[in-house]
Amino acid sequence: MATLVSTTLDAIPQSALKIRTALRATFAGGVTRPIEWRQNQLYQLARMAHDERDAICDALQKDLGKPKTEVLAAEVGVVIKRALKSAEKLPQWAEPEHPEVSARQKSWKPTLYRAPKGTVLIISPWNYPMILSFQPLIGAIAAGCTAVLKPSELVPTFSQLLADIVPKYLDSNAFRVVNGYVPETTKLLDLQWDHIFYTGNGKVARIIASAAAKHLTPMTLELGGKSPVIIDSTCDIDLAAKRILWGKCNNAGQICVSPDYVLVQREKQDELIKAFQKHYKAFFPEGALDSPMFGSIVSDLHHKRLTSLLSRTKGEVVLHGRVDPARRRMEPTIVKDVADCDSLLEEELFGPILPIVPVDSLEHAIDFVNARSHPLVLYAFSENESVKQQLVKETQSGNIVFNDTFQQLAVDDLPFGGVGESGYGSQVMKYTYEAFSYLRSSIDMPKEAEPQLAKRYLPRSEEAVKA
Ligand code: NAD
Repeated sequence: MATLVSTTLDAIPQSALKIRTALRATFAGGVTRPIEWRQNQLYQLARMAHDERDAICDALQKDLGKPKTEVLAAEVGVVIKRALKSAEKLPQWAEPEHPEVSARQKSWKPTLYRAPKGTVLIISPWNYPMILSFQPLIGAIAAGCTAVLKPSELVPTFSQLLADIVPKYLDSNAFRVVNGYVPETTKLLDLQWDHIFYTGNGKVARIIASAAAKHLTPMTLELGGKSPVIIDSTCDIDLAAKRILWGKCNNAGQICVSPDYVLVQREKQDELIKAFQKHYKAFFPEGALDSPMFGSIVSDLHHKRLTSLLSRTKGEVVLHGRVDPARRRMEPTIVKDVADCDSLLEEELFGPILPIVPVDSLEHAIDFVNARSHPLVLYAFSENESVKQQLVKETQSGNIVFNDTFQQLAVDDLPFGGVGESGYGSQVMKYTYEAFSYLRSSIDMPKEAEPQLAKRYLPRSEEAVKA
């Protein structure tokens, strides 16, 4: 794996402070305030994604073995679309709102302004490094903030590329890429920011939230966890298997919304497995080990973690993924009859392993989900509306998705975020814009309101207080 050069943040501790100070000065100077300036930066960001797409695909092929088609569809294409759409929608988002108030207060002109928070820090992970870096940045630009973007050291070629190309397209006085490892990130976290947007795992989230708490910095935490799939017996099992397997194969299961485990009624388990086997053959006639349509595991450490979890399972492997540790490859692997305390249920799998847990009833599946941390997504396959409503009412998760996996991410107008252990705050388009801005409320009291206000002045009579 390539190593990352911490070019932007050198060894001098003051340099993090210098960068933050410079961005603060830009913000204070009002450069980012005009809507047209923000729109221009969003167009530039879209232009960068378009013009540098080959370099981006090459970098992600090198770092993650990511198929070019997947990078173009799930990262480059989405960034371009959302940057352009945000630019188009921005004037409407930024329009001051006039809330409904009582007739008595109308003349006070109650108004809500969307104000930029200031200078913000974005810390992104390795698994979808482009969309997860630029989606928050699009929101920060739209909101009128200045920002430092700290990409993941686990995708060094890509992160280096960002440091090279971002200054060519965006205003460097307002937006900076800072690369580095934990020490560099720690230096950034020592400083006061006006918002921190972190995407990654819950363990590091606690470190970041503690650093933010020192400065009372507001945060968005986009985390992960184990997203279950509930198979209700009314569903089309064959189609469910196809859609789940497709969702699981994206980025070799290394995505926060990847179906983590399946809960199926005991008597339907074998039918589901047959359907998985059939669709696996159709997706990968030669197997996934050498398929250019299937990605690699990000690091040796994660490859070892996955093979170790698999070696300890008490379940039965029914779709055997071959592994090639030298190339960090692992084929999709399906394990049946997985019990409550199995190794595969210990932690978020974040890889191409799919355990199947047989249950006795829908209520049993609901209890199983509710006994664990709130997932980022709850997937359920059912043709029964009352089952869907029961799941909406009786479970908690950041998102609940019926009859598909992964595709919820394509909806530009839905917020995406977690609850409890899967995080807080949300993103995507308007919701990311809102994360980086705050509602500044205002009234403007007219001179003519004086008779209406007369009773408040001192000395006040008891009658005036009662009235
Ligand atoms: P990662 O290892 O790339 O870490 C994420 C970021 O945290 C990186 O920029 C890294 O430099 C920084 N970091 C790591 N250790 C740190 C420390 N000690 N102090 C300060 N910063 C530190 O990525 P990861 O955490 O392995 O990402 C995978 C996790 O992220 C999974 O749990 C996944 O579910 C979750 N995730 C969530 C979303 C979402 O939108 N909800 C999206 C993608 C991934």
